[in-house]
Amino acid sequence: MTKQNYAIIGLGRFGGSICQTLIAGGAEVLVIDKDEARVNDYKEIATQAVIADAQDEHTLKALGIRNFDHVVIAIGEDIQASILVTLMVKELGVKYVTAKAQNEYHARVLTKLGADKVVHPERDMGIRIGRNLLSKNMLDYLDLSPEIKVAEIKITQKTLIGKSLSELNFRKNFALNVIAVRRKEEVEISPAPSEALKLNDSLLVVGYKKDVERFSQLMDR
Ligand code: ATP
Repeated sequence: MTKQNYAIIGLGRFGGSICQTLIAGGAEVLVIDKDEARVNDYKEIATQAVIADAQDEHTLKALGIRNFDHVVIAIGEDIQASILVTLMVKELGVKYVTAKAQNEYHARVLTKLGADKVVHPERDMGIRIGRNLLSKNMLDYLDLSPEIKVAEIKITQKTLIGKSLSELNFRKNFALNVIAVRRKEEVEISPAPSEALKLNDSLLVVGYKKDVERFSQLMDR
């Protein structure tokens, strides 16, 4: 399999952490920022680090941006720059563009210009933390689709402790599939249906949003 190559435009905390993750995963990464100090911070990390204003179409062409498998536009505050760079990168023929949006209007414009994925990191992290605050037993939560969720939920109800998933008839009674059980530091990814649940075990479940919420509320009672 050939290595995927990525270009990241904008080296704030968002673009920078994407770069580090991709490099750690063995990818080739070009980073571009107009701020020299930020580019210098990534000289030893990225495959190639370039000081440039990405709003300059000649620069994007000279860097061969259209040959990248995936371009991430990680410019946040300068909405005009983010919009213009997204437009140019799509016009130059990049197949997959991920762009960071500051707000809903910005997101709509980026989508109209052809961004393949628009992300709202601050909003999404806020939602995630808010959910954690609302339910003390919901340890983590992930959207697979608007309706289907994966959640890690701590078992606190006496009625469940000491019983196994099969005794509880878990799938039928809670309409959730258990994909893993965490007990202290150990994670069992194919949990035995006959094993008794213990206090503070947590279950990684997948199911419809309403069923995940119902189960989580039951644990909060
Ligand atoms: P973060 O929230 O990710 O920490 P930030 O708040 O530091 O980001 P942003 O305004 O979101 O800053 O910009 C991210 C980076 O994008 C900055 O390092 C900035 O220099 C860079 N940047 C902004 N406009 C351009 C541009 N036209 N060309 C290249 N880089 C740019």
